[in-house]
Amino acid sequence: MPGFELIGDEEFQEVREVFEKSKILFRHGFDPFRKGVYKVRDFEQAFSNYLGVPDSLAVTSGTAALKVALKALGIGKGDEVITQSFTFVATVEAIIEAGATPVICDIDDTLNLAPNKLEQCITNKTKAIIAVHMLGTPARLAEISDIAKKRNLILIEDTAWGCGGKLKGKHLGTIGDVGTFSFDFAKTMTTGEGGMIVCKDPEILAKAKAYHDHGHENNPNLPRWEDSRSSSGFNYRMMELQGAVGIAQLKKLDYVIAKQRENKQKIENVIKSLPNLKLRSLPQHSEETADALVFFTESNSVARACRDSLVKEGLGTKILPEAISWHFAGTWNHMQELVARHGDLKMAFSISKDLLDSAVALPISVFMDETVPEKINTALKRVLI
Ligand SMILES: *Cc1c(COP(=O)(O)O)cnc(C)c1O
Repeated sequence: MPGFELIGDEEFQEVREVFEKSKILFRHGFDPFRKGVYKVRDFEQAFSNYLGVPDSLAVTSGTAALKVALKALGIGKGDEVITQSFTFVATVEAIIEAGATPVICDIDDTLNLAPNKLEQCITNKTKAIIAVHMLGTPARLAEISDIAKKRNLILIEDTAWGCGGKLKGKHLGTIGDVGTFSFDFAKTMTTGEGGMIVCKDPEILAKAKAYHDHGHENNPNLPRWEDSRSSSGFNYRMMELQGAVGIAQLKKLDYVIAKQRENKQKIENVIKSLPNLKLRSLPQHSEETADALVFFTESNSVARACRDSLVKEGLGTKILPEAISWHFAGTWNHMQELVARHGDLKMAFSISKDLLDSAVALPISVFMDETVPEKINTALKRVLI
């Protein structure tokens, strides 16, 4: 649970440098005044280095990252974009904001997009697939990517929850055509609010850069007020204070993930032999961010009883089973665009609903009291044995 647990002096020093040295809070321009301080630019560079990609674009949020990516890809009215039933509302909101039609695909026991349900969602209007690495576990990208290639569709990875995770040795977010990240306060690393975009195609990233900055092409031969433009855009610019925090947080990301994996393993070791408990499936060669430990029980009533029992021990769960309404498309009757495509959502996505109803997600933190695994064991034993 992550980055915010480690907010400290390093973040403060980065922010302090902005106030003491440059006093420029805007990412562009003011070159004679900023004394070489370019926090957002440096954060982008450090992030690119971390992922091993040539370039990346910082934006104001993970939701903005998805919308800017879709806009840069030219996806909009009349186009369909497929994503999974279990995600944060933001993924679908971004598709709607871009003007495209969201189409929901069921999940499998990875709790991410089910490759064997994907083809039936594809129509001649489909332009892209957004696979989500929910709760830090990689989606089955090998299979999804094969289908995307075969059907000539763009693959976007919503890596909001997968920053620092890997699949087959490759960083999540760098496997598909586009990867988007979130640095909101609950994510594995945080800038308070913020996001990032990486793209295989530098031309798409250039379009994203322009779109997120009112169409500005940041032409090096022109002053900003005479800058060139080829299309309209909007404002999703990250500001210097967020960039400063990001630089410090990124340096802690590997530590956060290592500690979370260690703590997750400690919990897993004590609960894995409990009866009537099945751990979430992982694609082969997954390296999770370990933001959560997810397991399936026999039914929704058992999952809820697990939660109640954990609460009695002074512990809790994360999203599942209690916060499903923000994360399962079957509950989003407030989104008319989804209802228009899928009908009454109460009846839709029953495969996903059955999986999610019986699942329990335990939050994993960086600083875990050593009594926690045994407390979890006690709480779950009461229900499962
Ligand atoms: C957090 C999250 C987002 C949105 O990110 P924000 O930075 O909060 O806008 C998008 N998708 C998923 C899967 C998320 O968990």
